[in-house]
Amino acid sequence: MQILNPATGETLTTVPASTPADVDAAVTRATAAQRAWASAAPATRARHLHRFAALVDDHIEELARLEVQEAGHTLGNARWEAGNVRDLLTFSAGGAERLNGRQIPTPGGLDVTLHEPLGVIGVIAPWNFPMPIAAWATAPALAAGNAVVLKPAETTPLTALRLAELALESGLPEHLFQVLPGEGPVAGNALVEHPGVAKIVFTGSTRVGKQIMAKCADQVKRVTLELGGKSPNIVFADADLEAAVAATPMSFLDNSGQDCCARTRILVERSVHDRFLELLAPLIEGIVVGDPYDEKTQMGPLISQAQLERVRQYVPEDAPGIRGKAPDGPGFWFPPTVLTGLAPDAPAAVEEIFGPVAVVLPFEDEADAIRLANDTEYGLSGSIWTRDVGRALRVSQAVRAGNLSVNSHSSVRYWTPFGGYRQSGLGRELGPDALTAFTETKNVFISTEA
Ligand code: NAD
Repeated sequence: MQILNPATGETLTTVPASTPADVDAAVTRATAAQRAWASAAPATRARHLHRFAALVDDHIEELARLEVQEAGHTLGNARWEAGNVRDLLTFSAGGAERLNGRQIPTPGGLDVTLHEPLGVIGVIAPWNFPMPIAAWATAPALAAGNAVVLKPAETTPLTALRLAELALESGLPEHLFQVLPGEGPVAGNALVEHPGVAKIVFTGSTRVGKQIMAKCADQVKRVTLELGGKSPNIVFADADLEAAVAATPMSFLDNSGQDCCARTRILVERSVHDRFLELLAPLIEGIVVGDPYDEKTQMGPLISQAQLERVRQYVPEDAPGIRGKAPDGPGFWFPPTVLTGLAPDAPAAVEEIFGPVAVVLPFEDEADAIRLANDTEYGLSGSIWTRDVGRALRVSQAVRAGNLSVNSHSSVRYWTPFGGYRQSGLGRELGPDALTAFTETKNVFISTEA
């Protein structure tokens, strides 16, 4: 498979595409390695993960630059992502020693619950955040005593491959963390169908997530799905309007809009709608789009030609709205774009575009804002801008999404749970329960009357 630099369109390298036989061999190796790992003392697993984290920390700059090369992320973002991997490894290492069961008072004996590792976890990752998402499942899965076989996205296998090398170098036992680049319907599917894989953690499109969930049903295989989004950014007239406007551009332009949490539906109370657009226009027009290695750059390219075509389909040349600037090629560039005057059910207003494009829709009152916010098939994240605490709480409770923020666009912290409602996903990653998602709970009753 050819790996391109999306900022230039040039080929960086090629990697072999794994076959179903490669996947089978990897699962067999992982199964053997997992047995010893599961019986190691939690403190031993913790020590290994701390060493892995330390080696990632020594390679932050290298990992970040690799992410810039293959995914087109800005350097600042990529450094944050490499740090996120390190921090999650450290956080998960701590969890290994706190994965405690419970003792439940039961007449006639002692009742205890055990959290047992599942076995081999298949992780299927997307291209938009290839490095952190590779770690989101891997770190807690390893900490809980599992082995991981990871298939990165076709376009972005390099950071995951490097992480697997660093894991080995840090002394993590062989075959506990294997990375197999390959095609989704071939290598990815082989993981999904493999009877030796106990759970699939899939991050990607809702379309593929549904197929994977259906296939997992054949074996009642455990599954966590992190899927698409079309998240609202709700701006009430009582908000600090300047602050709401200032935060809006990067709430949907970060990673060129290729972010499952991107706030791409900007809902603005009608009385401040025109003022909001007036203040927003110069900010969008001033976004610095270009070389992701340049520290001044705020937005890089899209991942591929195919993604560029997809985004273009949603934005006719003459569509009303605000346009920023973007380089001409080579590379896969699209300008920051805010569409106005669309019907609330227009495709660009309800479908995930996965590019630097948002729509602005006016609303009349709180009930109307909630109705519009919930009027998609998704439910991943969202923001609420208001100075009224009661309203902030009411709207937070009414919006059906897994990750909301008030007067902020922050969604992702490794110590808080992350995941979607409705067609944005199933299950949660990160947060205090991250390790439990990679265990089976067993209840044991020991009679004291025998
Ligand atoms: P995608 O669904 O096309 O691919 C994701 C992964 O699945 C890739 O590794 C691909 O090779 C693999 N795949 C494809 N077909 C497969 C099959 N039949 N069987 C097994 N594996 C298969 O998604 P993408 O375009 O890489 O990623 C973008 C999507 O990911 C967006 O919808 C975005 O919202 C979503 N996403 C969600 C989250 C979240 O946490 N909710 C995070 C990041 C991205």
